[in-house]
Amino acid sequence: MQVRLFKPCVGEEELANIRSVFERGWLGLGPLVEQFEKEWSEYLGATASVGVNSATAALHLAVTAMRVPAGSKVLVPAITFVSTATAALYNQLVPVFVDVDEDTLSISLEDLERKVTSDCAIVMPVHMGGHPVPMDDLNQIAKRHKLAVIEDCAHCAGGVYKGKKLGTWGDIGCFSFEEKKCMTTGDGGMISSNRPELIEPLRAYRWVGIDKDTWKRSAKYTSADEMDARHWYYEVNVLGYKYNMNDLMAAIGLAQLRKLDQMNERRRQIIRRYLDGIASCERIRPLFPYQLVENAYWIFGVRCGERDRLILHLKRKGIATGVHYMPLTMHPLFRKYASKVPVAERVWETIITLPLFPDLTDGEVDYVVEALQTFDRG
Ligand SMILES: *Cc1c(COP(=O)(O)O)cnc(C)c1O
Repeated sequence: MQVRLFKPCVGEEELANIRSVFERGWLGLGPLVEQFEKEWSEYLGATASVGVNSATAALHLAVTAMRVPAGSKVLVPAITFVSTATAALYNQLVPVFVDVDEDTLSISLEDLERKVTSDCAIVMPVHMGGHPVPMDDLNQIAKRHKLAVIEDCAHCAGGVYKGKKLGTWGDIGCFSFEEKKCMTTGDGGMISSNRPELIEPLRAYRWVGIDKDTWKRSAKYTSADEMDARHWYYEVNVLGYKYNMNDLMAAIGLAQLRKLDQMNERRRQIIRRYLDGIASCERIRPLFPYQLVENAYWIFGVRCGERDRLILHLKRKGIATGVHYMPLTMHPLFRKYASKVPVAERVWETIITLPLFPDLTDGEVDYVVEALQTFDRG
């Protein structure tokens, strides 16, 4: 048997939406992006959302939106995907790596208090694997030190903390719709906020700096009562990027959004089965203190002192694994920003990500569990 690590859950609903985009003959930034932004905002409980082509772009622009003084520092957890930290570098800001909490692998609030200085302007909590950062506590620290809060929600689309969607606790929430994530548009991302004045300017930044997108200008062109509207006119005021979402992506996203809660529920079911299966293991423990009520988990993983030997054992049985993530401080790019992150550097050597996606069958889960049990007994 071969078991994949992640697999997008796409089918007839997405195909039907793609077909209607083809029939309209407008594939670029257009009305479906607007519709998806609107439906996403409603789903999340945010007042505004801006669709982009990745979470990497979302994080870059979210930092831009804060307009902090050049050279300011941005507090980032040591264990995350590179894009959380490169968002600071893209904006000529300085990442400060904060150690992680031993149990949740998310930003340690104790180390955050230790590392924060008066030149820190932004903190970027990442809900690692979908396990929520205690946002009430983090927001208190942020308020005390006048830090803007950008939530990296790449792992937790649909996740809830204390009755409120993740991504709405901070000033801005950034989401990933990359093919492996909780829901997908192929590649894609979303910037959401309850402070529209903060993120509305990003519409120009995602569209090479242009203040009116082509769809709106073409609507003016066909409007009878605006015959003398200069439909071709636009202005460029800012240095923008080609970061827009397009209607093809939005068409897939609209179908995926309707399935998101179901997909998250199926992932929780699978995790429950995994947890029952490994409960008796002595050398293999769950990656997180999983709480399977309202959390949207993207990673099921385990911790094992013989991590690399376990990865090989699973590979021989056709079971794909991953490691999320090696601490960023260990990458050459970030070496000059390295700081003391002892927990991250110790714990990452024990972590393994196992297969998790909505279409994973109970039979496949049992096959993985059996392989884990064999290793544990061996
Ligand atoms: C995947 C991921 C990103 C980047 O997402 P893309 O949409 O692929 O750019 C950012 N942060 C984290 C934590 C991620 O896992």
